[in-house]
Amino acid sequence: MTTSRAATAPTVLRTRHGDLALPCFLPDATRATVRAVDSGDLRGIGIDGIVVNAFHLLRAPGTRLVKAAGGIHRFMDWDRPVISDSGGFQVYSLIRQDPANGTIRPNEVIFKEPSTGEKVILSPEKVILSQLQLGSDVLYCLDDCTDAEDDLAEQALAVDRTVRWAAKARATFDAQVRPVRRRATRDDPPTEAGHLDGTRPYLFGVVQGGGSAALRHECAQALVAIGFDGYGYGGWPFTPDGSLRVEMLAAVAEALPPGTPLHALGIGRPDHVVRAHALGYTIFDCTLPTRDARRARLYAWRPGYPARRPRPGDDFFEAHYLLDQVHANDFRPVDETCDCPACARHTRAYLRHLFKVGDAVAWRLATLHNLRFYVRLMESLRTPEPG
Ligand SMILES: [Zn+2]
Repeated sequence: MTTSRAATAPTVLRTRHGDLALPCFLPDATRATVRAVDSGDLRGIGIDGIVVNAFHLLRAPGTRLVKAAGGIHRFMDWDRPVISDSGGFQVYSLIRQDPANGTIRPNEVIFKEPSTGEKVILSPEKVILSQLQLGSDVLYCLDDCTDAEDDLAEQALAVDRTVRWAAKARATFDAQVRPVRRRATRDDPPTEAGHLDGTRPYLFGVVQGGGSAALRHECAQALVAIGFDGYGYGGWPFTPDGSLRVEMLAAVAEALPPGTPLHALGIGRPDHVVRAHALGYTIFDCTLPTRDARRARLYAWRPGYPARRPRPGDDFFEAHYLLDQVHANDFRPVDETCDCPACARHTRAYLRHLFKVGDAVAWRLATLHNLRFYVRLMESLRTPEPG
């Protein structure tokens, strides 16, 4: 299923640090590192951009320190696009896990460091100023994340707060960054976002509304009225049984102006990415491939892919758990078609051995392999659909 929204999705996002060909997958460098690999490793396998987290960088090393180092790009030696997430999702998760971790107030979120008791205050304004200190190419508004199980009244409150905070974030951003000449409208030509010319950072809003299509629509409309350069699908995107909330994703995509970049925040399972892309989402980030890599779970293509472009519902990949005994005497690479450092030089048997003896190089090679799988998935999704 490919929607009209997908047909008009932008094919490039121009930033001050180069163009992001869309769709793109950005690994999570939450604390200014994609664990186990460095910026040279990422460049080597064709990663075009990363996502950092403002909340975690406020905690350590502090966004002021990153600014003193010359900004996030220089701090990490990363010269390609950087998107910073506000950290709303993470701070709510921590507070929901244990209310002793902090409180959510009408105009701010107060997080208490469990070890030191030190407070980290997130307000809509501060979150923008912190991301400007980082020097990100795409900044995110602070949003109010609900739990997927929360009732409708709670979801409506979250939408109200998210929209109010987005207006404050917009005002703070506009006071610091030169004004936008023109914002996206419904009349923008397809696949173009002319106002996004790469000369300034961008501000993205987050659409909340839980599992209610009406609330999602209302939130999207209210954010469009304020005007943002792009939009993220926020909140927990899965049903209790783990399926992707396809109807919600579709409702949000249809409510937003064509030609605007849409980011499916935290959606990263390969089949979910393919599904969301068909709905018009073009930016993806997730901790899944790097976390799976560190757990010895490596992806491989089914025969014919990725030369053939995966479509929603296709069975196009599998995952090998390298600690399984079956790989002990397997002298083939993880994926015969892969050109990553792990597959170009090493066998499943050797990688399995590295995991068994607990050597850090296992994490590095596995991470590079899984991320290379995503780079190739994006390349495949960028090829025009046949017919
Ligand atoms: Zn590989």
